[in-house]
Amino acid sequence: MATDQTHTVVVIPGDGIGPEITEAAVRVLEATGVRIAWREALAGEAARERYGHPLPDVTLAAVRAAGVALKGPLLAPKQTGRVTICHEDAEITYPSVNNALRRECGIFANVRPIRSFDGVPSPFPALDVVIMREVTEDIYIGWEEMKGPGEAWAIKRITRRASDRIFRHAFEYARRTGRKKVTAGHKANVLNLTDGLFLQCGRDVAAGFSGIVFDDCMVDALCLRLVKQPETIDVLVLPNQYGDILSDLCGGIAGSLGLAPGANIGEQVSFFEASHGAAPDIAGQGVANPIALILSGAMLLAHLGEIEAAQRVREAVATVLRGARCLTPDLGGRARTADLTRAIVGALR
Ligand code: NAD
Repeated sequence: MATDQTHTVVVIPGDGIGPEITEAAVRVLEATGVRIAWREALAGEAARERYGHPLPDVTLAAVRAAGVALKGPLLAPKQTGRVTICHEDAEITYPSVNNALRRECGIFANVRPIRSFDGVPSPFPALDVVIMREVTEDIYIGWEEMKGPGEAWAIKRITRRASDRIFRHAFEYARRTGRKKVTAGHKANVLNLTDGLFLQCGRDVAAGFSGIVFDDCMVDALCLRLVKQPETIDVLVLPNQYGDILSDLCGGIAGSLGLAPGANIGEQVSFFEASHGAAPDIAGQGVANPIALILSGAMLLAHLGEIEAAQRVREAVATVLRGARCLTPDLGGRARTADLTRAIVGALR
């Protein structure tokens, strides 16, 4: 049963397929009986049109005040997507609107549980991986510089503070959810200092968590392992860029990016979004797979303490996929977003 509490949650429809899949996810969450007071806030192209900025103060204030948001994907144009946020004492420029939202909200972990489902064709039926991606640093801090007309540099920053924090979060998550192993992905054989420090932090944190196995793997070998022996990976801790890339790889081997949910976790604010992007190639056609955002919604419910409702959403998704009768085109079917959403609502206990 849902609790009696009413939760305030900001919903950001986002760009591309965002409005279609957020509408679907809101419908499913409402159908659980959990009481949610939704507060819509704009970011991305809709915010640029209304406020002249893709991440206006009013949206940041709403997300900070509620502490919880359900977010659709936002377009991040290649090469021109930098976003500047003005504070009283300084202006900060971020490499993209998504990066800006995470960092302005104090997000440090991006958690993506990605699994294969009965009913969805995948050569890897044993995939059940949680990607734990550090999102405050690495090469995505956006420190780039032209050193001359034909030479561009980027800085990769790894700190003990951020690395310890993501490994601690991963081990605590593993302990809480009954997972048995934490694997660090890195390239410490080449990036001796930066990835070397990341790996050392993993080893140091692991020493305080008996009962959970720790191992590590070079990121190139990790790609091979994910497609050859996915069952050997449980919780996977990665610096920002490798986490970004391997999330899509895992979504692909699960059968579709449309099945990969995500949570952005911070001390004060957490927001929940699919791993995939705005999919402009299919936007407005009513064929986007809403499951990744619906499963992100289940993570949101669990975060709010609505554990039983979260489990019911996950079971409804698994039931519909197992039946394999109502699949969107990315899963090999012909169903529309609305059909799949209706089927999931119908399967909710
Ligand atoms: P994408 O994830 O949007 O799409 C990759 C492919 O997967 C496309 O063929 C798309 O149609 C398909 N796809 C993705 N989600 C799907 C779904 N739910 N149902 C069915 N098919 C789906 O990646 P991209 O094309 O590289 O990026 C598009 C835009 O989204 C870019 O501007 C990018 O920067 C942005 N993006 C945003 C986020 C975010 O908001 N967190 C994440 C990744 C990319």
